[in-house]
Amino acid sequence: MQKTASLVIVGGGVMGCSLAYHLTQLGESQVVLLERGALCSGETAKSGGFVQTHWTSPHEVKLIHWSRQFFAEWAEPCLFRPIGYLHTTGSEREPVVRQVHDMLLALGFESHWLGPREVKKLQPLLRVDDLVGGAYEPQSGWVDPIRTTHFFGDAARQRGAHLHEGVRVLQIAHRDGKVQGVETDRGFISSPRVVLAVGPWTSQLHPTPGVPLPLIAKRGQVCYMTRPGGLPRTELTFYDEVTGLYTHPDGDTNLVGLDWHFEPVWGPDYYEREIDSDYLEAAHQALSHRFPSLSLARPVRGVVGLYDFTPDGHPIVDGPLGLEGYYVAAGFSGAGFKSSPALGLGLAEMILHGQPRTVNLDFLKLSRFDKP
Ligand SMILES: Cc1cc2nc3c(=O)[nH]c(=O)nc-3n(C[C@H](O)[C@H](O)[C@H](O)COP(=O)(O)OP(=O)(O)OC[C@H]3O[C@@H](n4cnc5c(N)ncnc54)[C@H](O)[C@@H]3O)c2cc1C
Repeated sequence: MQKTASLVIVGGGVMGCSLAYHLTQLGESQVVLLERGALCSGETAKSGGFVQTHWTSPHEVKLIHWSRQFFAEWAEPCLFRPIGYLHTTGSEREPVVRQVHDMLLALGFESHWLGPREVKKLQPLLRVDDLVGGAYEPQSGWVDPIRTTHFFGDAARQRGAHLHEGVRVLQIAHRDGKVQGVETDRGFISSPRVVLAVGPWTSQLHPTPGVPLPLIAKRGQVCYMTRPGGLPRTELTFYDEVTGLYTHPDGDTNLVGLDWHFEPVWGPDYYEREIDSDYLEAAHQALSHRFPSLSLARPVRGVVGLYDFTPDGHPIVDGPLGLEGYYVAAGFSGAGFKSSPALGLGLAEMILHGQPRTVNLDFLKLSRFDKP
């Protein structure tokens, strides 16, 4: 293993690997990435891979739009399925959904408003009697998070980066306000720049208590269910405001998720990994309501993971933070995958050029939490 590096990335999830990809693409080849397990063994592997621009913050929408174009360009290695995204609503939430739809049009992005009859035509299996319609994005869909992470990692390696698996970072070393490197369970690596991209484990390694990060890890869950009879016929990524159900087909199963409470955990390595039976029941109920012909679906797999939340639901992608050479990318609040290409590029430009050039990351600065 190298003893020196011009930059160390800690964490081999989609964020660390996207950063390594973009840094090496911009010409920085002396990059070392350290992952304590195997690449993509953290929260990225649990991601549903939803990529849709139907999101409330215009800043974030622009990042997702940029990323969606990236996924479309690299559709094969990332396994992008642009099968469309439909976001349905009843009358109560209609204004909110229309607001996002209008915002997307104002930004010049594609979104179509469909009435119940058009919704039914698009997806005949849907029950629509309690819906007033929905917003539809034909260009969106879902992407394989594991394939994407390995795509980023492989490309970075080919351009000279060193990605080490099975190396745990114990602490970030610093002196006189400057990063010195990282202490690992395989020895010290000297480096003037270190980026923490360790998801829910960020607070464990954050070296400057004087610059606190407002992060809290919470437990969340999704499940996969069988699709009796090969249904639904129409491929679609889908969210429903009435039931809180979200789903997309994945092989011969469907990912089935539900808006559900997130629970604080004792620590990122101490939480209940078994899916809750009442969650399974409620998810099945919501699926059967919205897709009556899927009422025979049965759960085959539960996925329980951590969401690293910030108070405003936006990540912190910023640096230097309290120390020369120290950067953080964390707090993705359950939605980091869909904008990971744009975030990796923006952070790479921030590190190499002082600020992002291609995308705007101003709204992700830690200092936003200083404001009264
Ligand atoms: C159930 C679930 C579903 C989701 N669905 C979606 C979705 O549909 N769309 C979407 O956009 N987002 C989704 N997300 C969110 C998305 O998965 C995350 O925001 C994103 O994967 C975060 O990536 P990351 O690289 O920051 O973290 P991680 O993938 O967790 O990577 C961090 C890595 O750091 C490593 N690490 C930790 N400590 C150390 C150490 N001391 N030394 C070395 N390495 C260390 C870990 O092993 C891990 O591999 C979902 C999340 C969950 C949990």
